[in-house]
Amino acid sequence: MFKRLISKLKKNSPNALNEAQVIERDDHTVSRSQISENALKVLYRLNGAGFDSYLVGGGVRDLLLGESPKDFDVVTDATPEQVHRLFRNSRLIGRRFKLVHVVYGRDMIEVATLRGHHENAKGKQQAKQSESGMLLRDNVYGTIDEDAIRRDFTINALYYDISDYSIHSYAQGIDDLNKRRLVLIGDPATRYREDPVRMLRAVRFAAKLDFTIEKKTALPIKELAPLLRDIPAARLFEEVLKMFMAGHAHATFELLEKYNLFAQLFPHTQQCINEQESYRNMVVHALQNSDARIAQGKSLTPAFIYSVFLWPCLLETAKTLQNQGVPAVPALHQAAADVISNQQTHTTIPKRFMIPMREIWDLQRRLERRLPKQLESTIGHARFRAAYDFLLLREQNGEQLDNAGDWWTDYQVQNPDALFQGRESTRFNSRNRNRNRSRNGSGPQRDDDGPHRISSPRSRKPKRD
Ligand code: ATP
Ligand code: MG
Repeated sequence: MFKRLISKLKKNSPNALNEAQVIERDDHTVSRSQISENALKVLYRLNGAGFDSYLVGGGVRDLLLGESPKDFDVVTDATPEQVHRLFRNSRLIGRRFKLVHVVYGRDMIEVATLRGHHENAKGKQQAKQSESGMLLRDNVYGTIDEDAIRRDFTINALYYDISDYSIHSYAQGIDDLNKRRLVLIGDPATRYREDPVRMLRAVRFAAKLDFTIEKKTALPIKELAPLLRDIPAARLFEEVLKMFMAGHAHATFELLEKYNLFAQLFPHTQQCINEQESYRNMVVHALQNSDARIAQGKSLTPAFIYSVFLWPCLLETAKTLQNQGVPAVPALHQAAADVISNQQTHTTIPKRFMIPMREIWDLQRRLERRLPKQLESTIGHARFRAAYDFLLLREQNGEQLDNAGDWWTDYQVQNPDALFQGRESTRFNSRNRNRNRSRNGSGPQRDDDGPHRISSPRSRKPKRD
């Protein structure tokens, strides 16, 4: 299908970056039945009111690849204020990049206005750039041709036109999609300086789509990676969620390390895993398990991923404190506080994840000790399942814990009714998006599929103090 399409396009291929290749409805595979009802509603309402409206970016890209899109983004020539007036169920958001969110219950469609060139800006209210070239404000509106070359990758410069169901492909986006490669539009170094998060996006898409990063696009990343330090920690947290909660965490991690990006997000973890292979193994196993959970449709909490990423730092910091004479338990508590506050300067950790993360850590000692009087409250704890998975992971990676993992596996089989029965309403779900679209709620890593076993259970007596 793609080959036929490409040969047809080549005959008529425009040369300039900002000229579209138009693929008529009969020559592509995207059908309205694959687009969410709410996205269609937004597209049609805008079009009916006399505006151009397109589905853009990942939605078109993923449908062409036969994948199911994470979300549907709409772009229009209506200004944010005009869009807001058209939809009662909408809100204007953002200052740096003004947008409209049209809200349908738990679903939300993001509507952006076509962006234009910064040379056309009327003052700093519309466009602003830092000394290093970073875009601080981007509210200059323009045409679809101008908008296309402001996008990040060529495969994201694809527009599905609701007025005739054609696809407009810019900068050879369709061609790159067919060749399964990521190409940044324009001069890569300049585009990374404008927005260093594009480096993370390159790696995320390469891992998710199994695409290669084209040479020129890949070349500046290692050197420019430290620019990520200028990105607000809250935005980086959002990116961490997208990278590690979408079912391609392991591949993403490998690429992040390869391009010197993981060290910018988790510098202390990078240092620890460089120094000790078992720490790296633990991270890799956790990410592989997380991907498997997502593939099986199970829930996953960022608290678990963070508890794994920061565990090596916790142990190393506690060790240092103990060497300075601090007793073991206070050393662990102080280390936890130090490690978290250090990480917060790189990527924020919202309280709703930080508290469960600390609980997963705190439960480790109880799981190791197995004090009879604490057994019931431990197994009934809301975070028991995640803490138990964490314990298994530690054992899998060489920590000697006197077979505590097997012991707890057995204990759960023998006491099925003692398991915590509650369910928090804020489970992580990549399709739930709130105000910031990817700032998701989360809850404990619990499900009803029984314990996560790594070996067959063997009976052992509870260890006493
Ligand atoms: P996914 O939704 O699967 O994460 P996506 O490509 O749709 O992938 P979004 O973050 O939803 O990513 O953004 C929608 C579109 O907006 C992108 O496809 C791209 O065209 C554009 N875009 C997003 N972020 C940037 C950026 N930092 N620089 C340039 N363009 C961007
Ligand atoms: Mg998207």
